[in-house]
Amino acid sequence: MKLIFEKSSSGRKAIHLSKSDVPEKKIDIPSQLLRKDVPLPEVSEIDVVRHFVNLSQLNYSVDTGFYPLGSCTMKYNPKINEDVSRLPGFTLSHPFQSEKVSQGCLQLMFELDEYLSEICGMDKFTLQPAAGAHGELTGLMLIKAYFKHKKEKRTKVIVPDSSHGTNPASSTMVALDSISIKSNDEGRVDLDVLNEIMSKDVAGIMLTNPNTLGLFEKDILEITKIVHDNGGLVYCDGANMNAIVGITKPGDMGFDIIHLNLHKTFATPHGGGGPGSGPVGVKKELVPFLPVPRIGKVGEKFKLNYNYPLSIGQVRAFYGNFGVMIKAYAYIRAIGAKGMKDVGEISVLNANYLKEKLKKFYDLPYDQVCKHEFVLSGSKQAEKGVHTMDIAKRLLDFGFHAPTVYFPLIVKEAIMIEPTETESKETLDEFADVMIKIAEEAEKNPDIVKNAPHKTPVSRLDMVKAAREPILKWEEKSLKN
Ligand SMILES: *Cc1c(COP(=O)(O)O)cnc(C)c1O
Repeated sequence: MKLIFEKSSSGRKAIHLSKSDVPEKKIDIPSQLLRKDVPLPEVSEIDVVRHFVNLSQLNYSVDTGFYPLGSCTMKYNPKINEDVSRLPGFTLSHPFQSEKVSQGCLQLMFELDEYLSEICGMDKFTLQPAAGAHGELTGLMLIKAYFKHKKEKRTKVIVPDSSHGTNPASSTMVALDSISIKSNDEGRVDLDVLNEIMSKDVAGIMLTNPNTLGLFEKDILEITKIVHDNGGLVYCDGANMNAIVGITKPGDMGFDIIHLNLHKTFATPHGGGGPGSGPVGVKKELVPFLPVPRIGKVGEKFKLNYNYPLSIGQVRAFYGNFGVMIKAYAYIRAIGAKGMKDVGEISVLNANYLKEKLKKFYDLPYDQVCKHEFVLSGSKQAEKGVHTMDIAKRLLDFGFHAPTVYFPLIVKEAIMIEPTETESKETLDEFADVMIKIAEEAEKNPDIVKNAPHKTPVSRLDMVKAAREPILKWEEKSLKN
């Protein structure tokens, strides 16, 4: 595919304006201050349209096919959410406008806070953080502020070895030492190890539940008790909420803080750098420390309140990524409490259905009932020289996005599959058939898998080289079709 600059032809235009019928006049800007001509591509309107439509079709998206990217919840997001977020009352508003003319926006944020609090069993949310990892950072800042206020010096955060890499990274960013603890044979937190490691300098634990193996931490009440008895706080990485929305509440499990990924569970498209939203909910002991401004309600009026002396301050310009909040709000209002429960149940059903179909063909290191996702291992295929990366690439030939691979780190040759609740049985069956076919190819014709993909616009890339020395220009000959 050519660059748009290569399609340029001198003098070609998309729009022809009629000749000026007024006399030309020089303006008195010194010539050295005038903008120089920028070499823009000279193309017709249809060249532009085809160029960008063709480019967009090289991409893969939930709108084009199944996207079983574990831990990312790439579910289908109803288009009505997009329509609602584009209502002129929202798109034409500006954060500098007065409270008086922003009542609708403030009401939406106020009510979204209430809905998320109800869903998670928390007392209050801040909607400011821009993504999951930003929510973690905010949550850990709250933990630090809480202990500083109590004049306790606690410097450590416990993080299971199955956790998302952002967990230890966020701890490090707020200058807390993260201590990794090994999961037990079942893939869960080991209570003995936890008890052993507990001490007065532990500020808390960061836990993903269900964890990144897709397993529910069934000892969660014990875990939160152990941490609380030691004076610590329990942080929930709520990026996996899809599995439990409408079914159980992290607040009831003993979590003190949670971040959600609105761009996962609450139906905002994601990938490609955002925008996202990672609201953080807390129990009442932590409410005084939440970021400002907070949205309050006096009578029928919504207000922005800044006067909270213990607040950690502001973590994002204005109020956060408002467009994402509108979509989450629309989604919650559209599906309601019953729909929320369906999300939890069907996402779990879909994952278990696929797991049972595939476990005869791929190793399943933790063979248990899973929640919204499960982790296979490509180790059986690796014996034939076909690795997980090869399987992932081969899937592209059949029109599927690859699952998450090589994560979580505790599973060798990990293949992490999250089908989500929005996929039909037919789609799951098609995907399973292809996975089974690839397992057979790995046995009988391993080269076809090892050299995949064969049908995509570019074949296998040297990924390190691609990251370090990107060639941002494609030659026609690098395209196969
Ligand atoms: C996606 C995810 C995150 C990080 O969220 P971002 O919005 O990408 O920053 C953290 N933890 C888990 C378990 C996740 O799946």
